[in-house]
Amino acid sequence: MQFRDLKKQYRVLKQEIDAAMLNVVEAANFISGQQVDVLEEELAKYVGVKHCITCGNGTDALSMMMMAWDIKKGDAVFVPDFTFFASGEIVSFGGATPVFYDVDEATFNADVESLENAILEVKKEGKLVPKVIIAVDLFGQPADYDRLEAVAKKYNLLLLEDGAQGFGGRIGTRRACSFGDAATTSFFPAKPLGCYGDGGAIFTNDDKIAEYLKSIRVHGKGTFKYDNVRIGWNSRLDTIQAAILLVKLNAFKNFELEAVNKFASQYTNLLKNVVKTPIVAQNMYSSWAQYTIQLSSLEERNGLQEYLKEQGIPTMVYYPKAMHNQTAFLECKRYVDCPKTERLCNVVLALPMHPYMENEYVEVSNAIKEYLHLRHM
Ligand SMILES: *Cc1c(COP(=O)(O)O)cnc(C)c1O
Repeated sequence: MQFRDLKKQYRVLKQEIDAAMLNVVEAANFISGQQVDVLEEELAKYVGVKHCITCGNGTDALSMMMMAWDIKKGDAVFVPDFTFFASGEIVSFGGATPVFYDVDEATFNADVESLENAILEVKKEGKLVPKVIIAVDLFGQPADYDRLEAVAKKYNLLLLEDGAQGFGGRIGTRRACSFGDAATTSFFPAKPLGCYGDGGAIFTNDDKIAEYLKSIRVHGKGTFKYDNVRIGWNSRLDTIQAAILLVKLNAFKNFELEAVNKFASQYTNLLKNVVKTPIVAQNMYSSWAQYTIQLSSLEERNGLQEYLKEQGIPTMVYYPKAMHNQTAFLECKRYVDCPKTERLCNVVLALPMHPYMENEYVEVSNAIKEYLHLRHM
């Protein structure tokens, strides 16, 4: 059994993907080919924002936004304690300070009260200048942007949506990657919309920021490539990846997103009385980057993972360590405690989930029931 069956996805889409890749190779337009422009237009239209700027990966996308907003030493950027390392790494990379806040145990996303406490603590101390809130759409579900946008407004902060796992999700009719002042995503192969290598994108309605980003992704170019008006990067999406993404975006829109939602409800039906199943908040739609259950203790979680492994069922622990406990962040001051994140790190387990499942969820659910039955005998 595969955790996320990318080989099967390729088998299904092979004809179109092969043709798309060959096209790029034959035209030899490997960098900044026309497929990149077409993809940016399609992604912007799908998400419902004015500009999509593709780049090398999701981490670069976040870093480039820090640079676009001139976030630097002495600035505080608020980051959820329960997320992938990159969400906080990019803050330190630019010299600013990440301030971690706790998450909600039901949705795994921002606990807005904890965030507000962290902002107040930083203001009270008076050493750092609060600048940006980063919110993450963890495991595919958008964070609570109605409340987050209100908090950002109240404290006059910028809001950045890290939609690396959230692409395809919605709140009502508003799509993920359209929230806050700017949003980023990742096309890492295992993300909801993935390419065949690294890739990423930034979404914004701000014309000036869009122009700045297009400049810094190619060495700070001005009117043409060899006119360099600022210090920039080399962070572009390869044409071949754009061509693959154009094929995959169609599959994503036409059936993949619907498929993962169907499998998620099958899992929930089978497991809701057995373990704590993931909750999709009212009015929200998830793209199910992960289907994450919660066990009752670290021992039970680790035992179950081991048992499933013996049955040939792969699972993952996203994430075993809170951001504030990462060695790289040990020197960062803790402004608020994050007990919910600490508990989640011990009890979460992500189950096999992807749009090309047949009925693996039955086998997985049965194995989970077996293990818990044996354990409680
Ligand atoms: C994957 C991921 C990133 C980084 O994306 P890359 O393309 O791997 O650089 C950032 N934030 C979150 C929440 C992610 O899951």
